[in-house]
Amino acid sequence: MSESNMDKGIYSNLLALASVFCILSMSFFLRMAREGGAFPARSMNKRIYLDFNATTPLDSLVKDAYIHALEDFANASSLHEDGRAVHAKIEQARAIIASLIHAKPSEIIFTSGGSESNNTVFNTMISSALTKTSRSRDNWGGKRLVITSSIEHPCVMESARHIEEAGCTVEYLPVDSQGIVDVDQYARILHAGSASAAREKQPLLVSIMMANNEIGTIQDIQKLASMAHSYHALFHTDAVQAVGKIPVDVEALGVDYLTLSAHKIYGPKGIGALYVREGSPIEPLIRGGHQEKGLRAGTYNGPAIEAFGEAARLASERLEVYGTHTRLLRNRLRDGFVSKIPDIRINGHPEQVLPNTLDVSFPGAEGEAILLMLDLSGISVSTGSACASGSLEPSHVLMATGVGPELAHGSIRFSLGLSTTEAEIDFVLEKMPQIIAKLRRFSTVSSKIE
Ligand code: PLP
Repeated sequence: MSESNMDKGIYSNLLALASVFCILSMSFFLRMAREGGAFPARSMNKRIYLDFNATTPLDSLVKDAYIHALEDFANASSLHEDGRAVHAKIEQARAIIASLIHAKPSEIIFTSGGSESNNTVFNTMISSALTKTSRSRDNWGGKRLVITSSIEHPCVMESARHIEEAGCTVEYLPVDSQGIVDVDQYARILHAGSASAAREKQPLLVSIMMANNEIGTIQDIQKLASMAHSYHALFHTDAVQAVGKIPVDVEALGVDYLTLSAHKIYGPKGIGALYVREGSPIEPLIRGGHQEKGLRAGTYNGPAIEAFGEAARLASERLEVYGTHTRLLRNRLRDGFVSKIPDIRINGHPEQVLPNTLDVSFPGAEGEAILLMLDLSGISVSTGSACASGSLEPSHVLMATGVGPELAHGSIRFSLGLSTTEAEIDFVLEKMPQIIAKLRRFSTVSSKIE
């Protein structure tokens, strides 16, 4: 063997040895990290998920139904037996989803989720507003006043801005420090609009969310809808966060439109529904097909709809258990924070609040820093709505409740689910005081509630 060939041999052996060493040390580090080195006390596959308002995992029964339904490949619009079978299953799911909110199956339109449902309502209003007269029940044509709240989800906020660009006037109702909309101002706006002789100043639509995704505050939708109706306006509520967590009954609420989404109730992502009361105006956002009576074109996502149906069935069945379980643990978390961490602010309404939601401001600590430190401890939370986090803007919801930008930046949303355990809550209660104390030590901003 020549000398250079020998060198090459030694070199390649060394390289192989180095790779093995590298792999071994990497796996050693990862094991260390998982077993308590870099991520103390929790293994990575046992993370604590407290971000159920962002999305829920698929329930195991829903997952089974979903996997099973994937076999139903036929186009539900096809006239042959395969197609008719899928169509029948879709109608079954529709009936279950309708019964979850006490609607008629014919009043449910399947969409891709909450965002599309909300956009569909606002899009319909653009058509109504631009029409001089309409043949519909209350002749909404030409009215151009839209009322919403200042704490809506971004998909409603953006739709409201879009409808403004189309020539409507939008009033954004303020909320009090607990997130309840200002009913007096609402009444004044409705009254002034209706009293106007100019048709374009009259109220067309009110859209107010049933429960807020960040602070969990629940509005009195029944009262707000009845006020809208007494001034001949339509009423829409985004109930994405309410459905499956608290009772939702479209008849009792008296709403004309209601939005729901499967992935917040242990169903799949990319599927949702819009409830449209019989006789209320509705226009397709997506055109070009006869599906959903021409109101939402596109080949049916049969498996997702069937899984949504199963999720709705479970949500009806578990509603009471969900409320009791999450409320108990949420209160334990809240009371634990109050007793263990000085100078915090609990956001949202103390009673009119989702049972699973707790939003807390920790002055003197950055929300993103808290999130990252919790993340390293194996705990998943959110600093606001999942869609809004990623931007450095303070939460518009907290700002609307009068929390200043500094406090808003130091806020964390904990949202619990059916699988949350007492041990998980106690672990968070153990970690959180240390994290906040550490961050406050390095902070240049005050850790006192003003
Ligand atoms: N409305 C609210 C209150 C929400 O919390 C969300 C999602 O976070 C949406 C609408 C959007 O729903 P989807 O993700 O199904 O589009």
